Amino acid sequence: MRSLLLAGSRSAWLQRQATNRRFVKLAVRRFMPGETLDEALVATGELNRHGIAVTLTNLGENLRDRAEADAVLAHYRLTLDKIRDAKLHAEVSVKPTQLGLDIDRALCIEHTRALAEAARIHGSRLWIDMEGSAYTEATIGLYRTLRETHANVGVCLQAYLRRTRADLESLLPLGPAIRIVKGAYAEPPEIAFPDKRDVDENYHWMAERLWSAEARAKGAWATLGTHDTLLIGKLEGTALRLDVPASGYEYALLFGIQRGEQLRLVKAGRNVRVLISYGAHWFPWYMRRLAERPANLLFVAKSMFSG
Ligand SMILES: Cc1cc2nc3c(=O)[nH]c(=O)nc-3n(C[C@H](O)[C@H](O)[C@H](O)COP(=O)(O)OP(=O)(O)OC[C@H]3O[C@@H](n4cnc5c(N)ncnc54)[C@H](O)[C@@H]3O)c2cc1C
Repeated sequence: MRSLLLAGSRSAWLQRQATNRRFVKLAVRRFMPGETLDEALVATGELNRHGIAVTLTNLGENLRDRAEADAVLAHYRLTLDKIRDAKLHAEVSVKPTQLGLDIDRALCIEHTRALAEAARIHGSRLWIDMEGSAYTEATIGLYRTLRETHANVGVCLQAYLRRTRADLESLLPLGPAIRIVKGAYAEPPEIAFPDKRDVDENYHWMAERLWSAEARAKGAWATLGTHDTLLIGKLEGTALRLDVPASGYEYALLFGIQRGEQLRLVKAGRNVRVLISYGAHWFPWYMRRLAERPANLLFVAKSMFSG
């Protein structure tokens, strides 16, 4: 089912069918407060009132047109201004292919650097999402390039990739800010561990490395992007064993997923962040959310009958 849904995420035909159906839009609302930035900002304020920080991301990927990539840059600049004006506790996270990586690598670097600078002026961190494995090398290269001028940049690394241990080791001397996730794309077994146990073990190993005394001395930061409560329990034990204070890391969850766990972590005194996605180009992203938990298809079915 996971492979089917991930294959579906790349189907233009399915995208046309799904995005025109009201009941699909209704089901998407479970994971997205709305398509507009303003709706995302309202949800941000609400989460902030519960002590939860936010990461905002405007959906879209694999742009082929320079003008579109320029518009994304302008959109995120506006987003940072609106975050500042409304005094919200929020950062932004961008996809390299949304900022022109498929068009021209130099353009992507230029756009991402401009956003890193805008984020620096606003006193926040710019996050770089990790996309499919065809982009891993370029994304890590982008992160390295940006770190030459900006310390306020973080990058996502995927625990399911076999290469990730080596990537993390190579980045540690920079004192990197890393968002650890399991990984959301369809990857063959030569590239990604097919077994959940290996992925979870790798995830835990990555957190341990970022929490090592040498990495922390260099300023390394771990954002733990997961909804896996068993894994969270294990990470908590490790943080305690390694004497990592609660202020020294954060959990990040997706909007609408494991809300009870989000609040429980806040109550337990942990830094919690929720990633809010918004925008009209939600189809491939939504299919990845369904693939993570095919039971979510039930929400689509329910919306069909209630909508
Ligand atoms: C803040 C954040 C940023 C992310 N950024 C990226 C990125 O840049 N690149 C990338 O490849 N991936 C990204 N992801 C997605 C990530 O790779 C996983 O696909 C996703 O988090 C599911 O893995 P899990 O750690 O929650 O564990 P799983 O083992 O997949 O899930 C554990 C439990 O969490 C719950 N759960 C998980 N997913 C869902 C869902 N969709 N709906 C309902 N319940 C669910 C279920 O109860 C499940 O049993 C991000 C995730 C988060 C939270």
